[in-house]
Amino acid sequence: MQASSAASLPADRHSREGCIAHAAAYLDQGGLLRDLSRRVAYQSESDAGKLPPALTAYLQDEMAPYLTSMGFDCRILGNPVDGGGPFLVARRIEDASQPTVLLYGHGDVVSATPSSWRAGLEPWRVVVEGERWYGRGTADNKGQHSISLGGLRSAIHARGGSLGYNVTVLLESGEEAGSPGLLEFCAKHRDLLRADLFIGCDGPRIRADRPTLFLGSRGMVNFTLSLSCRDRAFHSGNWGGVLRNPATVLANAVSTMIDARGVMRVEGLRAPEISPDIRKAVSSLPIGGDENDPVLDEGWGEPGLTPAERLIAWNTMEILTFASGSIERPVNAIPPRAIVHCQLRFVVGTQWERLEEFISAHLRRHGFQGIDVKVDMATAATRLDLSSPWVQWCVDSLSATTGEPIAVMPNLAGSIPNSAFSDVLGLPTLWIPHSYPACGQHGPNEHLLAPIARQGLEIMAGLYWDLGAPGAPW
Ligand SMILES: [Zn+2]
Repeated sequence: MQASSAASLPADRHSREGCIAHAAAYLDQGGLLRDLSRRVAYQSESDAGKLPPALTAYLQDEMAPYLTSMGFDCRILGNPVDGGGPFLVARRIEDASQPTVLLYGHGDVVSATPSSWRAGLEPWRVVVEGERWYGRGTADNKGQHSISLGGLRSAIHARGGSLGYNVTVLLESGEEAGSPGLLEFCAKHRDLLRADLFIGCDGPRIRADRPTLFLGSRGMVNFTLSLSCRDRAFHSGNWGGVLRNPATVLANAVSTMIDARGVMRVEGLRAPEISPDIRKAVSSLPIGGDENDPVLDEGWGEPGLTPAERLIAWNTMEILTFASGSIERPVNAIPPRAIVHCQLRFVVGTQWERLEEFISAHLRRHGFQGIDVKVDMATAATRLDLSSPWVQWCVDSLSATTGEPIAVMPNLAGSIPNSAFSDVLGLPTLWIPHSYPACGQHGPNEHLLAPIARQGLEIMAGLYWDLGAPGAPW
């Protein structure tokens, strides 16, 4: 608390300070916890192969009434792709001639796996222990879109009901299943979703204590290499030395693609050279070091790069699982086939659409025949240019609110469905996360940190205030 006499007066509710104070009070007075507890209770798992009714109920019974109370017109729309979940599009049009910001969140969560949570915790009920609010979706993503909309509500209040711009909210219900239909939905409803700027809240801050802005994400391709030599196993004593072993061949093939230090060697799939502005942007980003973070391995990954460059500005390939024969019951035989599931994480500028072609050519060059290459799923890489005026504007807004240095990540190391917004809708994309790396997202004991949530509300309220102030680079 400041000791000045002004500080003891309530902030003018129609000022930026009043707006931010209103948002913090939403948490301090229990509003956020109440709203989030109700939201977490919807068992909206999307990754279990079927769509539970809670996906629609969350949008229809929970979010639509909340948004309607803020002056939005809400529509629940079907997924253009078979088997995909519904979308909520909420629009708050003050004046069609004014600019529009598109906000995004997802109402679905990953499988709750209740038995794996620690004693005293359960996924569908928010349990508060100190600064931690436990529950499935508290971090990913119900807590984060609740914070964003809480901040927006404060801005509407502080601006006396008139923001000076329009807002569209898009909530999807399949993000944890790979966002089926999101690209098609955005293409189909281009007019409904027309906007000038995109703001999303998802993913982690780079570290709990560093307010973070990221501008896109690395992309991801999951692919499978398989080699089938014959239709059954043959005794290794009777036939070893005269029959090709597919596991041996495949292990050697993979070793030419990625070496024993994790360096990826496939021509065409290596990252483009890191530009000076990206190098500069990532140079100040801390990697790891939080409680519960793993210790980084020395000597792993592309030589000559810093850990931040390897993680954020480079391409990495992982073996996800490798199988041949039976790991539970090894037998003395030459297995008939072998399969390896791999993943490439990649940055903007990688020709990932040609992955099959590049890998096939690589394997041919190294003398391997008969290995099948198949792409299973892919997400594009995206990155708003660091020179976009929105980047500095957003950093200034976050600094003004928090008084802290802001971590600017050119892209998230992980993957988010940002190409729907940056490529299909053509929007500048700003992502402001309100979670942190050890939040337990996707695993047991997922939680939101109350201090980050409180600062997140302040950040979002300030940002939505600033969007209606002179200087916003619409
Ligand atoms: Zn997630």
